[in-house]
Amino acid sequence: MKIAFYSTKPYDRIWFEPMAETYGHEIHFIELPFMADTASLARGYDAVCIFVNDDANAEAVNMLVDMGVKAILLRSAGYNHVDMKAASGRIKVLRVPAYSPDAVAEFAMGLLLSCNRMIHKAYGRTRDFNMNINGLLGVDFHGKTAGVIGTGKIGQCMIKILEGFSMRIIAYDPYPNKDLKVEYMPLKELLAEADVISLHCPLMKDTYHIIDEESISQMKKGVYIVNTSRGGLIDAGALIDGLLSKKIAGVGLDVYEEEEGIFYEDCSNKIIRDENLARLTTFPNVILTSHMGFFTKEAMHSIAQVTLENAASLEKGEELINEVK
Ligand code: NAD
Repeated sequence: MKIAFYSTKPYDRIWFEPMAETYGHEIHFIELPFMADTASLARGYDAVCIFVNDDANAEAVNMLVDMGVKAILLRSAGYNHVDMKAASGRIKVLRVPAYSPDAVAEFAMGLLLSCNRMIHKAYGRTRDFNMNINGLLGVDFHGKTAGVIGTGKIGQCMIKILEGFSMRIIAYDPYPNKDLKVEYMPLKELLAEADVISLHCPLMKDTYHIIDEESISQMKKGVYIVNTSRGGLIDAGALIDGLLSKKIAGVGLDVYEEEEGIFYEDCSNKIIRDENLARLTTFPNVILTSHMGFFTKEAMHSIAQVTLENAASLEKGEELINEVK
């Protein structure tokens, strides 16, 4: 297949270039993000390959359909950046449903540990030979209650990790998994009981701002929150208020609602106009990372392999097991 590959970073080439040869696909790497303004670059290609901060809105999807592009290959599990209504029945949308759920869960635990035990602050201090530990006090996670919102692939990996910390695990998921030995409960109860909350649900209408002023008001004082799912799950303004009032003791964010155009880019010389994002980076007990929970060798290998297999299945007319419908 001839694939127009958007939002290319050096690490994408490393994993996709050699594997594309094996599958016989021809990839044209484009650094620009995918959006309506750049969709015309896909003219003459069979498929576009896009990442999480690309914007396949209705206008962009319509342009692809008009140009005869057959598929949108997502290098991700999430598909909230594709207008599925516009795509439905007109262009195939194929995703990578699971690449390394462990990678994301391990990263979520890393963020939690860092924002609790202030490892990022300690690192900075010792680099300056400031060996003072004032202000770096944390809490034991052992014996505390962890609330997991969304018990799919990543949520389940997170549960195993939290079990290793001897935490009591409670969960909320509208589709509980009977095989899991966790205490499912309504969201409101989870919010009231959890010392640590980890978000592992997709971004949808139902989950948009699932963490907002109201849900934060239902939480325990001193709660830790980690979000490695999608930025839109959290109302950043409410989160900041919760941090300022000290209701929230620490936050780990790998995603941010307005991350598009900022995450994955070097903005160190730019003026950040997003007040909430700028404010969040000033809290000592907030760790913000650039949507990199997935970023392990194992996950990159899987993403490349499954994406290219999806393209091969489409080309051969095989069953599309990873089609988003
Ligand atoms: P999954 O589909 O296996 O699991 C999602 C779970 O959320 C399911 O059990 C589902 O029933 C549940 N859910 C649906 N609606 C819900 C609601 N209203 N409240 C609570 N739970 C609800 O997905 P996954 O592979 O575990 O991935 C979870 C999310 O992680 C993805 O949607 C994606 O946004 C994010 N993700 C982030 C990274 C990263 O690099 N940070 C990488 C991969 C995935």
